[in-house]
Amino acid sequence: MDNTHASRLAARDLAVVWHPCTQMHDHETLPMLPIARAEGAWLYGPDGGRWLDAVSSWWTCLLGHRHPRIVAALKDQLDRLDHVMLAGFTHEPAIELAEELVRIAPKPGAFPSMRAVPPPALREEVPGGRRRGSVVESAPLTRVFYADNGSSAIEVALKLSFHYWRNLGRGERTRFIALTGGYHGETLGALSVTDVALYRNTYAALLLDPIFAPSPDAYEAEPGESPADCARRRLGELRAILERHAHETCAIIVEPLVQCAGGMRMHDASYLTGLRALCDEFDIHLIADEIAVGFGRTGTLFACEQGGIVPDFLCLSKGLTGGTMALSAVLTTAQIYEAFYAEYSAGKAFLHSHSYTGNPIACRAALATLSVLRDEPVLERNRALAAHLAARIAPLKDHPHVADVRQTGMIAAIELVKDKRTREPFPAAERRGLRVYRHGLENEMLLRPLGNIVYFMPPFCITPDEIDRMVAVAVEGIERALA
Ligand SMILES: *Cc1c(COP(=O)(O)O)cnc(C)c1O
Repeated sequence: MDNTHASRLAARDLAVVWHPCTQMHDHETLPMLPIARAEGAWLYGPDGGRWLDAVSSWWTCLLGHRHPRIVAALKDQLDRLDHVMLAGFTHEPAIELAEELVRIAPKPGAFPSMRAVPPPALREEVPGGRRRGSVVESAPLTRVFYADNGSSAIEVALKLSFHYWRNLGRGERTRFIALTGGYHGETLGALSVTDVALYRNTYAALLLDPIFAPSPDAYEAEPGESPADCARRRLGELRAILERHAHETCAIIVEPLVQCAGGMRMHDASYLTGLRALCDEFDIHLIADEIAVGFGRTGTLFACEQGGIVPDFLCLSKGLTGGTMALSAVLTTAQIYEAFYAEYSAGKAFLHSHSYTGNPIACRAALATLSVLRDEPVLERNRALAAHLAARIAPLKDHPHVADVRQTGMIAAIELVKDKRTREPFPAAERRGLRVYRHGLENEMLLRPLGNIVYFMPPFCITPDEIDRMVAVAVEGIERALA
């Protein structure tokens, strides 16, 4: 073995570190890559190697690594206050971030240009419904509960929803509805509402028993069906589930627009509009998990905006701190907050905490990230970058082993299949995506396919030239994986 700094680090690592989401045995043949520094879209090894971070390091690195405004805010905060428990104490970063999140959160009736009125058929199906789904009557998100990672935010939202109903004397509501193909994290509650067999099945005996409703995933549309048709059909199926189960259901949880870890599967925004209407009609909560899709990934600041909806709980993490610090937040409504507000002896308080809840350094990183989104035309630039990316990946539609090329904003995916006509997938055991990963690493590119789905979720600082290179390496990798 060569005796570079990188290889010495790799050897030390493999002796003591147990890596996430990894069969460690793979590293008998797969290189472990030490990273020494990062800048913009690039990661650098200790000996000069470099990789373009085409997946934003698991979707966290929103604007690019070490954005100067975030770095400056972190340094400044370190000279003031490192941490203080958030129970009984508070600090300006936590207050200001909560104010800012409330200010930018999806608003009732705030999307005149893209308010998607429920399709007529759906409205007719909602006789006497409160029609809050048409947005105008939705309650705004005015309250922020902090946690310190995405899974914890999901735990918070699930517990809050259940506890809300319990505080109202509706403790018989103990179940959640989740979508097939959805992903919400790895802790037991979050994993319970996740439907990715690879992560869930092993632990099934330990998990809650949610009701899985069919995903509006447009890849699973029937022949001739548009994504909007598919969404409408799935809403009809959800209605049937609600008719049977609403009385025992706390909430439905969804990843708006893109089911990310489940394979970058995408659906029509009208599903969200119809979903909001159904949640109102059947009086259950809507939990929007925007941990991956929030902060401009899908073309709007929040994906919910494209459906013209306000959820009852909005879960945020990943890009929140621009990929620098672990932080998450759950936004909710005054109505829900008030159901917990009572004399202590009433036993209604939400007694949930994490040690690093609302950490000031993390909050400053988030404030700096949001200030960039506010002061710079990030979403506008993303529109041009997304159009460039779309043009580059379009030719793959004709590839004999590509079943689907799809994109929502700054998320794009290429679905590889064994048989293009029947869409029969490659057997998972062939690990074709892993070959793309390997090829990427050998060519300065961090691509990390989800099974046989090659995807791009680059930091927003990526340039058109870098997009060209990213797609070119992926295409070569795909050819190599198919050979
Ligand atoms: C990553 C992710 C989570 C979990 O976040 P962690 O910080 O990894 O626990 C939950 N939901 C979605 C949609 C995610 O992409």
